[in-house]
Amino acid sequence: MMNIPFHDRPAETIDPTQLAGLQLHRLRASVGHALCTPFYRQRLAECGLPESFTMGALSDLRRLPFTVKDDLRASYPDGLLAVPRDQVVRVHMSSGTTGAPTVIYHTAKDLETWTGLVVRSIAATGVTKFDVFQNMMTYGLFTGGLALHYAAEKLGMMVIPAGPGNTKRQIKLMRDFATTVVHATPSYLLHLYSALENEGVAPGDLALKRAFLGAEPYSESTRQKIEALMGIDAYNSYGLSEMNGPGVAFECVLKAGMHVWEDAYLIEVIDPETLEPVRDGDEGELVFTTLRRQATPLLRYRTRDLSSIIPEPCACGRTHRRITRIKGRSDDMLIINGVNVYPSQIEGVLMKIREAGSNYQIVIEKEGSLDKMIVKTEVSGDLFTGDLRSLEAVRRDIGNRLKTEILIHPSVELHEPGALPVSEGKAKRVVDNRPSL
Ligand code: ADP
Ligand code: ZN
Repeated sequence: MMNIPFHDRPAETIDPTQLAGLQLHRLRASVGHALCTPFYRQRLAECGLPESFTMGALSDLRRLPFTVKDDLRASYPDGLLAVPRDQVVRVHMSSGTTGAPTVIYHTAKDLETWTGLVVRSIAATGVTKFDVFQNMMTYGLFTGGLALHYAAEKLGMMVIPAGPGNTKRQIKLMRDFATTVVHATPSYLLHLYSALENEGVAPGDLALKRAFLGAEPYSESTRQKIEALMGIDAYNSYGLSEMNGPGVAFECVLKAGMHVWEDAYLIEVIDPETLEPVRDGDEGELVFTTLRRQATPLLRYRTRDLSSIIPEPCACGRTHRRITRIKGRSDDMLIINGVNVYPSQIEGVLMKIREAGSNYQIVIEKEGSLDKMIVKTEVSGDLFTGDLRSLEAVRRDIGNRLKTEILIHPSVELHEPGALPVSEGKAKRVVDNRPSL
């Protein structure tokens, strides 16, 4: 039996009935905090809930209204602030992948809680104070950098706050300080791998053992590709700035879905059309309620992220339920001539193809009245020195496999390594050139 590491075993293996009691207790406090904000006072009144309303049971959650990203934008900058301003010690903002910024305030206690959740998350992968942690995530308003930074320090690791980019320097730091763990976006780690190849550094010459990968959707085949190329274990990390950031859900050593820390977040999965809960195990939109946040409590926040709850308990013994890999955002979905396609489906196919490189891009154009999809992918450099027929065979194979997965036949373009743009933060995979309606 594999050794299962824990940071706070009693909290992580809490009895489910006891967990439900704790959740109800914390939910009541969260609703109370929420009522301190102008936004929720008005919203709850609009729903016909009196200020004296208290949650009798967890199922009363369904009487509460949803909160959406536009509510946060409309409340900018402080319509959702629930504590006096002098108690706030930090603000974070969403990286704005999808529009105007949203702000989340934190008290000192909020930061302590958050760091605790991230410590618990990373410790579940087996890292300890003997590890050397190189943080390749963006530091700043984006939550990814600072969250892991403080947690890794708290655990006692030596932290290298490298931030993203400057790949040559990353490699030098990894060698000079014998980095054992990195935190990066999956797209950046694949880029780093190509850079290692270019520099003639074999991954086996590095001390690297683990990677925490998150911030953007990626497929199981990408994880496996990264693990095989680099000879490491890669763990999926999920979070969003509205729910603090990293530390909402994280994989344990068993790598079979991400444990959601249910003593800090109430999770629901809903049908994004009907807004009704889906059955356990079915896919839907993740909705979270903060249970421990003082400065910016959020009730039933609709993430737009698509996933499902894994109803079976994890063999590791943790009682906090797991969610499956995020398939994408409901607003990520592309509609190509009426067919729904998620970028993650395309990625899943590309990563299974040996010759397909680490970087790809999906371009959509209008051709007459029809949509045309072009999948550009980097392939190994040696293909370009071989004969044209093998290049054409790879191209055709990719096209056919994509057709089987997404039901439409995109045109496929092969590019040499390094030819497609790389981003330092979240990768921008889709370029949609169709005129907007
Ligand atoms: P935004 O991208 O809206 O500016 P954030 O920077 O807070 O906001 O990013 C959070 C979003 O990033 C999540 O809602 C989710 O869509 C995506 N994300 C984060 N981690 C993962 C992951 N492990 N897998 C897939 N998607 C992720
Ligand atoms: Zn587990």
